Amino acid sequence: MKEIMVNYFQSLENGNLPAGQAGKKIAWCTSVGPAELLRSFGFEVYFPENHGALLGATRTAMDFIPEAIKCGYSGHVCSYTTADIGAYLKKQSPLKKHYGMKGAPKPDIIAYNTNQCREVEDWFTFYADEFNCPIVGIQPPRYLDEVSQDEVDLVVKQFKKMIPVCEQVSGQKFDLDLFKKTIKLSREATLLWQKVLKTSAAMNAPLSFFDGTIHMGPIVVLRGTQIAKDYYTTLLAELEENVKNNIGFLPQANSRIFWEGMPIWGKLRMMSDLFIANGAAVVASTYCSSWVFDQFDENDPWNSTARAYTEIFINRSDKAKEKMLANWFEEYNIDGVVFHDTKTCFNNSNAKFGMPQRLQKTTGVPALIIEGDLCDLRFFSEGQSITKIETFLEQIEDAKVLI
Ligand code: SF4
Repeated sequence: MKEIMVNYFQSLENGNLPAGQAGKKIAWCTSVGPAELLRSFGFEVYFPENHGALLGATRTAMDFIPEAIKCGYSGHVCSYTTADIGAYLKKQSPLKKHYGMKGAPKPDIIAYNTNQCREVEDWFTFYADEFNCPIVGIQPPRYLDEVSQDEVDLVVKQFKKMIPVCEQVSGQKFDLDLFKKTIKLSREATLLWQKVLKTSAAMNAPLSFFDGTIHMGPIVVLRGTQIAKDYYTTLLAELEENVKNNIGFLPQANSRIFWEGMPIWGKLRMMSDLFIANGAAVVASTYCSSWVFDQFDENDPWNSTARAYTEIFINRSDKAKEKMLANWFEEYNIDGVVFHDTKTCFNNSNAKFGMPQRLQKTTGVPALIIEGDLCDLRFFSEGQSITKIETFLEQIEDAKVLI
């Protein structure tokens, strides 16, 4: 994993070499944005959200958020956005220390998809202005119960509108075969990633949610490449071997937990240790499943890509989300669900409009809501969260004894 990520970031650094030297042009893209189309034009693809997660995981986000606030960004909007913009303004980045880069690579083109939130449009537009760089966006219909062909048609049109801009910036004509080839690689990697996650449906789950947040690196930043496909082929073989030998990440779990919402990046280790110390296995999540695009089909490249990126969990109505969650609870044999009510990401917080209560009624799976944030740890109370989680896990175990 380390080698893959170092090579990935190094290829971005090379992308910024002066003209005439090796290196490709750079596209910035949202994490569930049109990466396949960009790769088909030969762009190296950089994901600012990945940088946001790095700022969270290294706990440097809080050093940078105030810089963005000074520029007029509220401290209550997406802390990926504020941390990333603040780091840019302060000309600092953990990419220097961890990957030997000068900082985030300069974009030649910026692309976003508001299938996840409108924040990405504001965030990316800031950079388009800063770098005086072309920006292209996809704005699909949101909060859908079902995604119909009408919606897909609309999104296909928006995808196709990107082509002339990509051609102009890359200097390459659109090549349908290359696009199909990239989708094929993306599909293969994403289906392997899905199988990786599903290994934890085993009673002795080999992969925790917390490990998943690390292993998802390649499916986020390298989908559409052979590297991602190879990585998940190897990982899957290892996990399947563990399932066969009944080796889980916990010798014996007292309960199986589902994590709903964003990770708390600066507290991954603490959270992982907390659940393990209480004998609870966090075996599945909506977050890690967000990079399963099982609709990709290279034989129907436009429709399948538009559908895959519009059907994602975060872009759906509560009704559709509840159906998906209920299926996951059953598939992973879930005893309890923890909703992370993320202070600065309204879009990925599903505990605000009665969903935990409705789901408990329909599935019988008890829910706990904890408050926190993806990057800004000022919104997270460690002591209070530990008490809430430990009490919740005890209640689940007591209920099992009574049964
Ligand atoms: S989905 Fe949430 S965390 Fe992700 S970019 Fe949008 S607001 Fe930020």
